[in-house]
Amino acid sequence: MTDTKNLENMVIIGSGPAGWTAAIYASRADLDPLVIEGTEVGGQLMLTTLVENYPGFRDGIQGPELMDEMRLQSKNLGVRIITANVTSLENSGKHFKIVYSGKTILAKSVIITTGASARWLNIPSESKFKGSGVSTCAICDGYFFKGKTVAIIGGGDSAMEEAQFLARICKSVKIIHRKHCLRASAAMQKKVKAFKNVEFVWNSEIKEFLGDNVLTGIKVFNNETSKESEIKIDGVFLAIGHIPNVDFIKKGLVKLDKLNYIITENTKTKTPGLFAAGDVQDFKYKQAVTAAGTGCMAALEANTFLEGNVYDKKSKKEC
Ligand code: NDP
Repeated sequence: MTDTKNLENMVIIGSGPAGWTAAIYASRADLDPLVIEGTEVGGQLMLTTLVENYPGFRDGIQGPELMDEMRLQSKNLGVRIITANVTSLENSGKHFKIVYSGKTILAKSVIITTGASARWLNIPSESKFKGSGVSTCAICDGYFFKGKTVAIIGGGDSAMEEAQFLARICKSVKIIHRKHCLRASAAMQKKVKAFKNVEFVWNSEIKEFLGDNVLTGIKVFNNETSKESEIKIDGVFLAIGHIPNVDFIKKGLVKLDKLNYIITENTKTKTPGLFAAGDVQDFKYKQAVTAAGTGCMAALEANTFLEGNVYDKKSKKEC
């Protein structure tokens, strides 16, 4: 049942850096935000180890700890939090209708910060090394493999970008691709091929990650020769695409690009009162700090939207 008495002023869906930053700004603007944080709280940073590129931590900070801090900071500022996955978001007349765990609430404004999930290979041995040997972010984790041998999986622009980053710090970089040619742009390919320490391993698919506690290598299947081989490797970076988390949004509420990212103008979507921040609307930068920045922008834009729409925090009703 829809509880119209419990109209929310602002609901933030998602709990990565964009979500918490939006919540912090909204709370300080007295917008009484409610965060529906999902059940995989914290987003992609929960899968990383040391984060050295988020300003303010002179010795870096562990990804999960950074997310805990953001969550606690939000709570300390009075942000209300519900741990559940939103299963549907739609327009309901003047307001937004949000469904989670079988419950329905209405909101005057919504900020979507559900991120994009990196695609994983989903082979059995992968989970053992997730975040410690197998990563989906070279900028986040590449430094741990300084001077070592790493593999990148994928043949797109992301793989080429990761390859350039890793080639500068690692001893050797092997790009393992399932085809015999790359889909990455010619310009990207040229840049990568200029590195002497980058080698291409064509027509190859990873069958298994090897090692007891530490990753030591990969088992690879050559789909041209049908032969299997083992390659010694210290770290593997998957660059096989991202999937924006937009399935719960009713069709027509937002405009999506061809990769399913939400198209925004700053952080405004095509629907007034509905905003998107962080990786769910950004295929390009995908950094915690840029996500936090857009979270701030979304809260400020939502504030402007709500200014024409006075709300009483106590009674949870429009004035
Ligand atoms: P893409 O979808 O372009 O490429 C993914 C790559 O991963 C493909 O080569 C694909 O292989 C491979 N792949 C997918 N699934 C698997 C699998 N299960 N096993 C092995 N390999 C797999 O994703 P990107 O993240 O590279 O790029 C996304 C978009 O972002 C693109 O439009 C790209 O141009 C853009 N981008 C632009 C950048 C820039 O301009 N600076 C930087 C990064 C991205 P196959 O080729 O066989 O399908």
